[in-house]
Amino acid sequence: MSAELLGSLRAIVGADHVLHGGDLARWELDWRKRFRGRALAVVRPASTEQVAAVVRCCAERRVPLVPQGGNTGLVGGGVPDASGTQVLLAMGRMHRVRGIDAANLSMTVEAGCVLQAVQEAAASACLLFPLSLAAEGSCTIGGNLATNAGGTQVLRYGNARELCLGLEVVTPAGEVWDGLAALRKDNTGYDLRDLYIGSEGTLGVITAATLKLHPRPAAQWTALAACDSMSRCVDLLQLARSRFGAGLTGFEVMNTLSLALVARHFPALPRPLAPSPWTVLIEFSASDAGAEAACRERFESLLQAAFEAGAITDAALAESLAQAKQLWHLRESIPLAQAEEGLNIKHDIALPVSAIPSFVDATDAQILRRFPGARLVDFGHLGDGNLHYNVQAPEGVAAADFLEREEKAVNRVVYDAVAAHGGSISAEHGIGALKRDTLPHYKPAVALGLMRAIKAALDPLDLMNPGRVL
Ligand code: FAD
Repeated sequence: MSAELLGSLRAIVGADHVLHGGDLARWELDWRKRFRGRALAVVRPASTEQVAAVVRCCAERRVPLVPQGGNTGLVGGGVPDASGTQVLLAMGRMHRVRGIDAANLSMTVEAGCVLQAVQEAAASACLLFPLSLAAEGSCTIGGNLATNAGGTQVLRYGNARELCLGLEVVTPAGEVWDGLAALRKDNTGYDLRDLYIGSEGTLGVITAATLKLHPRPAAQWTALAACDSMSRCVDLLQLARSRFGAGLTGFEVMNTLSLALVARHFPALPRPLAPSPWTVLIEFSASDAGAEAACRERFESLLQAAFEAGAITDAALAESLAQAKQLWHLRESIPLAQAEEGLNIKHDIALPVSAIPSFVDATDAQILRRFPGARLVDFGHLGDGNLHYNVQAPEGVAAADFLEREEKAVNRVVYDAVAAHGGSISAEHGIGALKRDTLPHYKPAVALGLMRAIKAALDPLDLMNPGRVL
């Protein structure tokens, strides 16, 4: 790295915040340990002005930049490539809550704010920021918006895009776009906010966001239910929707193997139900105070109706908040249990809910026929039509060998089936580096052409997270 560039970066953010040489693994290795890059330097800005100055400094010297938040992304989009030519922009020092406007149900935070801190700040104003995912203790709001994260509450509140009112962005030219409007209506031309949300750091750096808040639910009930097939899970979803309406805030599914992996790697977690082909986690929220007894009655009556209709074979209703948390903990432990088990072939897919049973039946059969012994670890947000359809190496086979040998063929089977069922190859994790070369097979050529035109117009020197998405 040239001493001149190093000196300029140090002059902008301070010498302590330009890391060069030494052990940078924390920033260079992704959460799944699939992508290990090498950074020219790690730069840690503390303000929007510093981000803009760093971007200008790098642009003048044609040095590419990779923005990074909590480094919990699952598609290798937030770590540098192996060339050693990319500057990593670590956003963690930008973690201020700039303000909460309770009357407007909105708050403005800096991009490096950890999601859990955003939720806690909203709660301190007796309000709810509903974005919730298992990585919330480490991921940042900037990363959530850059990947348009989903999580467990999308069914009721929408994904990150629907929870964002405005953005502040540093463009690839180093200008600051102040789009932090706290408006729910603003039809003044192209929606730049929507362009940046989900752009995975390829169009600029998100430095702050104005977020949509909601009233906190007055009461919540959570249950697990056992289903014999995916088709029964969809029956239960329809029943729960018709009974709870907008009160249905969570509907997650987990197959036998997902929970078996949790039992293997986290044996202390309670398992309230015996293993069944599918276990569903249902959450019902009510907004009216004093609704607890009525909620419980409605939940019991849903489960009774589901038994009678043959949709479920067993159920356990949480008796307390602590028990409800344990049920959620089971669900949220699946990705961690999978990571403990070893690398797997991940598919984060979206399908129309009505197509999911036939997708699962057809694809399970094909995978097991073509890759005997492969372990299907399927779970996800059925209420949003989003499955994490993961294929783990057969018991006793080294995960890395299985991936090297079979990943492409497994992906082909799964993604062809997704396309045949009208789905998408990325529901909430994004494209990053992992799916970049797969995207052109499944995205219409016209759409890809428009995306390339946008990238070329906004980042003509291809300096923002190059080689990701496109
Ligand atoms: P990073 O990993 O640091 O970066 C992700 C991408 O965003 C990269 O392309 C990066 O360049 C870009 N980026 C980061 N910050 C900025 C910025 N300020 N400006 C511009 N670009 C930026 N995702 C879901 O949607 N739903 C889930 O339920 C879910 N569960 C998860 C569970 C676990 C255990 C883990 C590890 C991950 C999970 N994820 C889930 C993945 C999810 O995408 C990330 O956790 C999160 O949204 C990324 O935030 P981050 O701050 O870690 O971003």
